[in-house]
Amino acid sequence: NGSVLGWVTDFGAATSHSAILARSLGLPAVVGTHHATRLLRSGDQLVVDGEQGTVLVNPGPELLAEYREMQARRERRRQLLEEERHLPALTIDGTAIRLFANIELPEDIEWVQRSNAEGIGLFRSEFLFMNRADSPSEEEQYAAFAQVLRALPGAEVTIRSVDVGADKLLADSDLQLYPSGLNPALGLRGLRLCLRRPEWFRRHLRAILRASALAPIRLMLPMVSTVYEVQQTRQLIEQLRSELRAEGQKVAEHLPVGIMVEVPAVAMAAHAFAGVADFFSIGTNDLTQYALAVDRSDDDVNALFDPLHVGVLSMIQHTIAAGDAAGIPVAMCGEMASNPQWTALLVGLGLRHFSMFPGAIPEVKAAIRATSVEDAKVMALAALAGSSELFAHVDDIET
Ligand code: PEP
Ligand code: MG
Repeated sequence: NGSVLGWVTDFGAATSHSAILARSLGLPAVVGTHHATRLLRSGDQLVVDGEQGTVLVNPGPELLAEYREMQARRERRRQLLEEERHLPALTIDGTAIRLFANIELPEDIEWVQRSNAEGIGLFRSEFLFMNRADSPSEEEQYAAFAQVLRALPGAEVTIRSVDVGADKLLADSDLQLYPSGLNPALGLRGLRLCLRRPEWFRRHLRAILRASALAPIRLMLPMVSTVYEVQQTRQLIEQLRSELRAEGQKVAEHLPVGIMVEVPAVAMAAHAFAGVADFFSIGTNDLTQYALAVDRSDDDVNALFDPLHVGVLSMIQHTIAAGDAAGIPVAMCGEMASNPQWTALLVGLGLRHFSMFPGAIPEVKAAIRATSVEDAKVMALAALAGSSELFAHVDDIET
């Protein structure tokens, strides 16, 4: 909607789903201000700086001019990078990095095309189920997937099976959860909920399997905690594949099935999951939340939400090493992958496959092109040893 220019909220944090959605819509957003709704008046003129996380209320002409200048500078930078969109994502020493896009809504596709991403590394299928009281039929789900796949012919698209629960709630009564309040982030969400609603999950998987006949898609399972959950899902997929074939429906010969690595115990046991997963994708939003016991959408503890914590970095490194040892691809699709300040560090940890909101791709690519793997490794070793300057931003905890 062209009339919304920015977004300021009292609650939430940078990896809350509302913030992720704002990014996907290309809107500047400042979240978790605590007091905005009390302090702001209708008609106030605001400067919303999503990069710095600041909101200026009725700035004077000088301040406004300064911000307009800054806005123009950022726009020039954006245009410069736009002109470089066809350059390959190669490090100085020639290592190729694969860049994929995350999408939240089918409308994001246009942005994906402009960003020159190789494909979609995370297709958050939740949008199919939002803003409605019931679930879409298998046919409607298939049509929505088909629309995205047709817009990106030949591109690799990783569809994530629906990840609801915790902070992603739906009105659909089939997917209603326990009465809320009982630690929802640790409760029935993601794959756990799907396995508990087999009839519902079958419809969803059938739509995805049918879509697999249209393009080289991969299926990614969210919120996995055990090998058994993956095995159960694979069995269900095989059953549905035969069912669909018997009905005369087309299904791809092979549908790679991978897992999100977002539960700390899964990261630490990644080698054990290599036997049941065709690929890993590290979800740093949840991995950080669970590893540090910091609610990702609670602004009161958000200063502690730090993917650069040595504990989190070790899990990332461990997951990449386990994937490499087993010969299965490892991607990262959490917000950490979209921060150009951390790109070199992640390359140094061995990451070769990034997925992020399309708007972040140009800056991340520029960071890759300015990095050598050798320097990146030095940076990664320093970070794993707890190099203090990387942690400086944690000091500003509000008291
Ligand atoms: C994550 O947890 O890092 C992730 C990519 O998934 P979501 O943000 O949708 O939970
Ligand atoms: Mg997640």
